[in-house]
This record gives sequence, structure tokens and C-alpha cells, in this order.
Amino acid sequence: MQFHLNGFKPGNYQIPDSVREPAAIPPVLDLPQEVDVLIVGCGPAGLAMARQMSEFADIKTCIVDAKSGPLLFGQADGISCRTMEIMEGFNSSEMLVKEAYLLNQTAFWEPNKEQPANIKRTHKIPDARIGLSEFAHGIVNQARLHELLLDGMKNSVTHLVPHYSRQLTKLDVDAKLTQELDAHPITATFERSDMSQSPTVETVRARYVVGCDGARSTVRKNLSIVLEGDSANKAWGVMDLLLVTDYPDIRVKSFIQSKEDGAVMTIPREGGYLVRFYIELGLLEKDQRASQLNLTAEDVIARAQKIMQPYRLDVKEVAWWSIYEVGQRVADRFDDTPAGNPEGLIPRAFVAGDACHTHSPKGGWGLNTSLPDAFNLGWKVAAVLQGKSQPKLLQTYSSERRKVALQLIEADRQLSSLVATRPTKNNDASQTKTNTVDIEKFMERQSGFVAGTSIEYNPSMIRTGAENQDLASGFKIGQRFHSAQAIRVADGGRQHLGHLNKADGRWRIFIFGNQQNPAQSSSDVNSLVQFLASEDFSPVRKFTPEGADVDSVIDVYAVFQQQDLSIDELPDFLWPAKGKYGLRDYEKVFHAENGNDVFEQRGIDRSSGCMVVVRPDQHIATVLPLTAQNKLVEFFDEFMVGKM
Ligand SMILES: Cc1cc2nc3c(=O)[nH]c(=O)nc-3n(C[C@H](O)[C@H](O)[C@H](O)COP(=O)(O)OP(=O)(O)OC[C@H]3O[C@@H](n4cnc5c(N)ncnc54)[C@H](O)[C@@H]3O)c2cc1C
Repeated sequence: MQFHLNGFKPGNYQIPDSVREPAAIPPVLDLPQEVDVLIVGCGPAGLAMARQMSEFADIKTCIVDAKSGPLLFGQADGISCRTMEIMEGFNSSEMLVKEAYLLNQTAFWEPNKEQPANIKRTHKIPDARIGLSEFAHGIVNQARLHELLLDGMKNSVTHLVPHYSRQLTKLDVDAKLTQELDAHPITATFERSDMSQSPTVETVRARYVVGCDGARSTVRKNLSIVLEGDSANKAWGVMDLLLVTDYPDIRVKSFIQSKEDGAVMTIPREGGYLVRFYIELGLLEKDQRASQLNLTAEDVIARAQKIMQPYRLDVKEVAWWSIYEVGQRVADRFDDTPAGNPEGLIPRAFVAGDACHTHSPKGGWGLNTSLPDAFNLGWKVAAVLQGKSQPKLLQTYSSERRKVALQLIEADRQLSSLVATRPTKNNDASQTKTNTVDIEKFMERQSGFVAGTSIEYNPSMIRTGAENQDLASGFKIGQRFHSAQAIRVADGGRQHLGHLNKADGRWRIFIFGNQQNPAQSSSDVNSLVQFLASEDFSPVRKFTPEGADVDSVIDVYAVFQQQDLSIDELPDFLWPAKGKYGLRDYEKVFHAENGNDVFEQRGIDRSSGCMVVVRPDQHIATVLPLTAQNKLVEFFDEFMVGKM
């Protein structure tokens, strides 16, 4: 798709440039007085949290932002493979894939040895992330991602829309109430900045609060959560430009290193014409802010022109620009319980996204870590509120996501020392010498982390050890379910199995069959399915509410090696009757495809088969033998709550 030819225009890219307008701002309505979940901040973390909560009709959610309306320009632009997968879980990946610029190559430029004032391409390589996911890394305006999440919220069962023009000024957590599940221990005070006649101060009481309010988070400060690490010492200019240039790699991501004037990173943007530049500006004094450099857009463009000699940059339009400085810092804890939570308290207040980790923009990790924070937390809050899981489940958020944040900070430190290369004020030689080969090696080494696909949670109540990893070596326990395709038995349709993991709060069990005929009652798969369907202590029977569809809490799929199966030979449980008419669900049974075999691709033991248990956030909780019914029972009993 091409757009922005005659100027940058925010909004829905499905609408032609000539008539595109930003989406209307929802009317300013009074805040509700009491909610289940209060989300502060409409960035990627807040909107992902809200999008997740919007799936649940029985949960009352409120999301607020200090701004007067949705983001229209700028900020992050890289959508990692993993973020794309999560957006697929929200049923919104198609638009992103269509509209985003999909990264294919990276080019590296260094000073020309013959003419050091000029730059010269050293090499071009395929993007290191290719093949890590069925999705590529995409480049699209953060505002467009917000819009897709907002659309999903609006069209959900809850029709959730944000309350803009609300600045959180104070957050109280009543310690006497935090351990009472039904209480509303949170009181949040907001100042209203719209021009209406309604009260200018409003309070909301909530059972849980999630602070997604960015790097200067008021929630974090009110919870006395401390950011640990280095504060900013380097400023970068970031610009979205429409320009005419003879620089040949303008439609390829490039790392450009000049001899004397610093570095530029260019990223092609959606629509075919727009391009993002990150321009190294220099060191800051202690306590100095980038804004105090008093640089104009023209100054920043001039710096880029100098770095990119001998190429011409004729800037026609600056769609957005900013000067950006961030230190590498992580919050000491991600919820309101004491560090390490020795008493096993129920957390009631959380921080997510930039509110609990800040770093440089170079790796494109801000949005891509913030959004998965909320994706990790959302289903847990919902499961506890709905009485499906024990509240101790909420303790896993801080431990799982803080680990990722610490990895992120370390990766950012390494990348920053490679990309920012100009001589330092104290002429520290270690920071002056680097070359693009080091960046390339870093990108290769960290490709899984950069793509978000190798993020792995530690063992906990919702992630077992790796005892049975050999049964499916390509479905890494603790990591996200790496999708692969299979053929639906009922109609021959090809299905990405990972796309069955929708963000609807359900657990999933994928049964990969062995070589026994699953139609025979003596086979391992048949015994497992009979157990799941009939035994009172089967997790499916135990945790599915009376009268609800059989797959409403735990959704079971089967994938077989045999290609000559007929659905009617298989146990009813695998094509269950559902809904008010008892219609059969024909979309739960698959077989492997010749030449595109999921068993081969994911290292599944053909003679044993296995079960792969997938959490509602698409991470693999455990891999078990087909015969390990007791282990399956033990796993779910640890944190789930039986039907009432
Ligand atoms: C100016 C800027 C430029 C950036 N540029 C890049 C970039 O070039 N590349 C890149 O990868 N990343 C960039 N980032 C980082 C990236 O945008 C963030 O990592 C990502 O948006 C984090 O998401 P979040 O939801 O945690 O927080 P944010 O996106 O920061 O959202 C926080 C939200 O909370 C709201 N809020 C804050 N305080 C309150 C309050 N007291 N009451 C109510 N609402 C409040 C804010 O208005 C905001 O909408 C940039 C960030 C900023 C701020």
C-alpha cells in the first residue's frame, strides 16, 4: 500500500490520503465511581491491557489519559514479530501486515577510506529476524497500532472507550483492604482538563489499578516504586521525514557511521515515501535535559546532512520530530507488594511499560516490551476477577516481566555502546571505536530477543521445568508457542496453529498424536481424550462452569500424523457440540502436511506424541507425555479454582 505521497496524514490508512482524517475523539463523559480495573495511560501498554479486559463482559474497566485525545504522530514505529503475534491474538494483525513496511534488509555504512568525510556502504544483509516467526518485523506509526487496539476495544462486547483529559494526581492504596479480594482498595484522584462544566476533580475506586502512564509515571511514584539504573546521558534526534535524496538505501534500514560527526540510523516507513531518522546529537551534562540543548528541527536535519555526506537530503516535510533522551532504568518491583513478596501478598496495583523500564529508542524495544507486559498481566487479572484462578497467580507478573526488563536493559546497554560512537567528552577511547560489523554481530546474536520470540519465563506455578522438553524440542517451555501450519481434517483447510491462541483468556491444550490410530479406543490419544471429557477430576470438567461450552475455559486441539482420518471416527470431544443449538465445532482436529510437517518443524517425538499446554498469553506452560494425566491435573490444580 502506498500513502503520504503529498504529505503525511495520520489516521486509518485504509482511507485514501485525500479524505483521511484522524478518528473522532470520544465525548468526555464523567468517570465511573467504582470499577474492577482502572488503567492509567493510553500508550501501547495501557491500550493492550484495555483491549484484553474489553474481551470480558463481566469485568468493569476504565482507561484514562491526561491527553485530550489519541496519539496522532510519532514515538515508536517498530512492531516486532512477537507484537505482531499478539496483535493476531487480538484479531488485528492483518491490517498491520498490510500497512506496515516489512523489514527485509539492513545496510551498513562507514567512512570511505579514500575520502573519510564521505560515507560508503560496506555491506547489506537480510534482516536477522527473518524466519523466527510467521510474521516479519513491521514498521508503522505507533498511533496506527493504538488505533487498531482502540477499534478492537470499541467493537468488543464491552464497547470500551478511553476517558481522555484526565490527569491522575494521586493514588491511594488502602493497605487494610488489599488482601480482601472483593474490596476496592484503590482510590485514584483525577484532574479534568477539558472545558466542560462538570466537576474538575473526580475520584475512582478500583479493585485493581495498572499504571501504564509512561516514564514519569504518577502511579509508580505514588507506590514508592524506585527506578534503578543510569539516568540519561546522550541525546538523539528522531524525525519522520518526506524527502528527496540520492542516498540509495533510503528504503532499507541502515546504520550509518561517519568519521567525525556521529551516527544516523534510517528506517523506511509505511506507505513507501516516509522515512524515520535517528540522529546522534551528543552527550548531556549531569542533570541536563535534551530540551535544554535548544535545538531546532533544522539543526537536527543539518547534523544528518553532515553525517550522510556526500548524499543530498532535501527535506520537504517534517511529519514529526523530537529530541529523545533516556537512561537505562528498571523499577525495583512491578507491583505494590514488597520486593520479592516474602509474605505472598496479593498485588492490587501494577506498573507496566515505560512506567517500569526505560532505555534508548535504538533497538525499538519500548513499545515491543510495554505491550507484552500488559499481555502478560491482562489475562491474570481477568482470571482472578472471574474467580477462575487463585489470586496468587498475580504474583507471577512482576517476576516474569521484571526478568524481561532486566534483559532489555542489558541488551540496550550493549547496543547503545555500539551505535553511539562519537568521541566522548573525556575522550574515552573505548567508546570511540566501533564498527558496523559489531552491530551486525549483535543483531545476529540477539535476533530472538529483538524479535521478542525468544523471551522465556522462568519455572513457576504456571510454567513447569523442562523435564519433557525432548518430546517437542521446537515448542520451548516458557517461550511463546511458535506457530506452524497443519491441515484441518474436516475440510482440508490450512491453519496456522498459533493463530488459534486468541487473546480471550482461555487455556489451550494441543494434543500431538503418536503413531497409534487415534480412532481406536486403546490408543493413548483416545484414552487421554476420554479422560478429559469424562472424568470428574479432569481439568476440563473440573474448571468449566455448569452449562458453559466445553471449551470455554480449556480449549483442546488435536494434531495427528495420520492423513487418512475421518472426523466421525474420532471421539466426540474433538468435534464437540456447542452453543444453544448444539452445533458441532469442526475446527479442532488437524493432520500434518507433507513437506510442511509440524512434527518435523517443531521436533515432536513421532513415536510418543505429547501434549503442549499453552497459557492465555500464548506462552507454553508445559509439555507432557500423552499418558501424563495426573501431571496435567496437578498442574492446573495448583492455581485454578474449581467450578462453583
Ligand atoms: C516523545 C517520545 C518519543 C519516542 N520515540 C520513540 C522512538 O522513536 N522509537 C521507539 O522505539 N520508542 C520511542 N518512544 C518510546 C515508546 O513510545 C515507548 O516505549 C512506548 O510508548 C511505551 O509505552 P507505554 O504505554 O508504556 O507508555 P507511553 O506510550 O509513554 O504512554 C503513557 C501514557 O500515559 C499518559 N499519562 C502519563 N501520565 C499520566 C497521568 N498522570 N494521568 C493520566 N495519564 C497519564 C500519557 O499521556 C501517555 O499517553 C518514544 C516515547 C516518547 C514519549
